[in-house]
Amino acid sequence: MDHRRRINELVSGIEGMGLDGAIIFGPENIHYLTGAPFVRGSYGKLLFVNKDGEASLIVSDLDYQEVSDTVNSAEIVKTDFMEKPLDRLRKIVKDSPRLGFEDGVISAALKEKIAGEFKLEPLRGLVERMRERKDAEEIAVIEKAQSINDRALEKAINNMKEGMSELEIAAELEYYLRKEGEESFAFETIVASGPRGVYPHGMPSTRKPSKGDSVVIDFGAKYGGYCSDMTRTLFFGNPDADARRAYEAVREAQEKAIENVSDGVSGKEVDAVARGILDRLGLGKYFVHGLGHGVGIEIHEAPVVGPSNENPLVPGNVITIEPGAYIPGRFGIRIEDLLVVEKGGKRDLTKFPRDLLVI
Ligand code: ZN
Ligand code: ZN
Repeated sequence: MDHRRRINELVSGIEGMGLDGAIIFGPENIHYLTGAPFVRGSYGKLLFVNKDGEASLIVSDLDYQEVSDTVNSAEIVKTDFMEKPLDRLRKIVKDSPRLGFEDGVISAALKEKIAGEFKLEPLRGLVERMRERKDAEEIAVIEKAQSINDRALEKAINNMKEGMSELEIAAELEYYLRKEGEESFAFETIVASGPRGVYPHGMPSTRKPSKGDSVVIDFGAKYGGYCSDMTRTLFFGNPDADARRAYEAVREAQEKAIENVSDGVSGKEVDAVARGILDRLGLGKYFVHGLGHGVGIEIHEAPVVGPSNENPLVPGNVITIEPGAYIPGRFGIRIEDLLVVEKGGKRDLTKFPRDLLVI
């Protein structure tokens, strides 16, 4: 990946804001700008970039070897024993310059800590906006992550049978995700059957789907640092007429929404297509979330595909389209594909069919 180009783009951004540099703490943003590996939720590294384009990645002993072996777009600075990356930054940065910081990423406590020493200005999502538009290399990696998903589900389905619990279904999937080459899970696998299917984030339980139950399966692989995301709703035994109708409605909403995805069309407009169809079929009030979200280094990132986003999609956006219907006390249905927005259209990265499937 061309990390140097990304750092240069960040430098033009900070110059445009009249800043002398930027401090980057977010592990996902550091990964995007340098390729440095990261553990989710761990804030142990710090990237400092000045307006001349010099980039220093400050790491402790703990990470030094791995980062040196992977990163070549920034100078790697190792802290002394027990010295914090922030302590080292104080030695590098002189004359209290105006520095951008990730206002959407760092905690209030951390901001307070650094605010006394540097003149801080919010970056207002500068790096996150760069990440919205994926380049060809990123798209290739996400496509591979999605193909791992497709193949894992195909294989896991062969082992699914009546009498299995949601946890066992999740275990089958996760086994094949690993076997097919994922590095880690993009997020906690969701398996929610029967009345539990109305929990859009339902974690797998010991519940065993009974005859005719829908089973919502939402899962993602992480590969090359990037996530995939897909949902299929399977049936354990033939569904009743209501569930079948709901399934076909959600499927139609998804297909029509996907047809409408293109650059220049807003997330709000695509959402309205799916919502309009579900409204017409009497299921609108059971579609309780937005239609989709951006996917990349993080499982949920910009752009939002929902009523709140009136900005047009642009080529390179990678988004999900995932309408659902959740009927309290009865069942849940969701179908989710991962797409890349292109000039004049889109490409669906999900190959797994969406025909109603009975186990
Ligand atoms: Zn999902
Ligand atoms: Zn999703």
